[in-house]
Amino acid sequence: MVHTFTALDCPIALDVNSGAVHVLDEMTYNVLRQVEHYESLPDTCPERVVQRLPYSPEEIDEVWKELKELEQAGLLFVKSDYIDPEWAVVKDAPVKALCLNVAHDCNLRCKYCFASTGDFGTGRKIMPFETAKAAIDFVIRRSGKRHNIEVDFFGGEPLMAWDTVKKTVEYARSIEKEHGKNFRFTITTNGMLLDEEKMEYINREMKNCVLSLDGRKEVNDDHRPTAGGQGSYDRIVPRYQKLVAGRGDKEYYVRGTYTKVHPDFAADVMHAADDLGFKNVSVEPATGKPGDPFAITEAELPAAKAEYEKLARELLHRPDINFFHFFVDLEQGPCVIKRMRGCGAGSEYVAVTPEGDIYPCHQFVGNEDFRMGNVHEDTFDQELANQFNALNIYTKPACQECWARFYCSGGCAAGGYNVNGDLAEPAYVACELERKRLECAIAMKAIRSGLAD
Ligand code: SF4
Ligand code: SF4
Repeated sequence: MVHTFTALDCPIALDVNSGAVHVLDEMTYNVLRQVEHYESLPDTCPERVVQRLPYSPEEIDEVWKELKELEQAGLLFVKSDYIDPEWAVVKDAPVKALCLNVAHDCNLRCKYCFASTGDFGTGRKIMPFETAKAAIDFVIRRSGKRHNIEVDFFGGEPLMAWDTVKKTVEYARSIEKEHGKNFRFTITTNGMLLDEEKMEYINREMKNCVLSLDGRKEVNDDHRPTAGGQGSYDRIVPRYQKLVAGRGDKEYYVRGTYTKVHPDFAADVMHAADDLGFKNVSVEPATGKPGDPFAITEAELPAAKAEYEKLARELLHRPDINFFHFFVDLEQGPCVIKRMRGCGAGSEYVAVTPEGDIYPCHQFVGNEDFRMGNVHEDTFDQELANQFNALNIYTKPACQECWARFYCSGGCAAGGYNVNGDLAEPAYVACELERKRLECAIAMKAIRSGLAD
């Protein structure tokens, strides 16, 4: 399979199965575009293709020879290896990552909040330490031979459950060696309760932290007011800057959300990077069920794609800024299993609520159809986990046909379920955005590595 596209004024062909990227001249691009859906190239360019193109038969002949050479070199129209979808289904995979919803409560009232402003529609609660401890014991029992275990403190707003966060870290650290495990912690926060003690603790104990900010003050404050209706920007930005300054080389991301109401996110990313000094930035589209007033829908797709292109131009000569979605490893990519299966939600990765209930990820919390068990009872619905395990690019029909499959790994099961009511049917809007981001990322990489001007 070959995918041709133009991004950043650069005509490109990606050979999907080999991963080879070719920067093309205009004529070669126009010829290849006519035949990109072919399984392989015939010896000469078909007459009906010649007739459609504004070039002489001799010119097309010349281009065709070059394309044939690339094909023969295994760089174009490479056949996909036969993969038995069953092979890609890892049954009874160990659980190796937890999203601990330590607070089903929040001090912000973000207008697009996926969690009903923090409580997931189930009432405001803080996770008692006993539940977090049971969750740590659960993941140790269920993680098999896996050495590294990821724990993400999430909410709502996890700093509202600070005591539970600290006790959980302390407990996990106290038992990790005897079990041959290494815990790696992340915290995702809205920053409202950050103080010196918390910053110092996060920078010492958390391998990664995700700091929520929607960019420019007017955008952030419109999207992310406090419970009293005030903006949050002035309170959180200096705290984030201080925290990041103390982080050394540990990972962090400043992460925003863009919506139908404020779709011009390139300016928000550049504000976070240039005006505020954050080097690791990410933005995600607001998602939601059809009719959601903030969600990016098909109607917003052209504008959203144009924003990614605009952002790619801004960041092209700024390798110092790491925009999460423009990072793509063309040489190696993730390991083959990861390339097929994505995030592992519902099998290797699960979310735990303040009551100890287990869900495939935070996006399913509160949906009883997806309650997988409880850490206090040590119950876990392995059959449901195996249903999630079976979701991969070889079992999802849309992914089998998609050129982006080895980079995207099959998208978000929750996104597909929310939009289509089907875990195995990816959300079209999310897919279109993913494909556009990948095109930008591939073009940036090609230009930066000198393949194109
Ligand atoms: S900070 Fe997060 S949990 Fe709180 S209201 Fe905003 S989006 Fe919802
Ligand atoms: S972009 Fe969509 S269709 Fe393509 S691989 Fe990803 S989830 Fe599947």
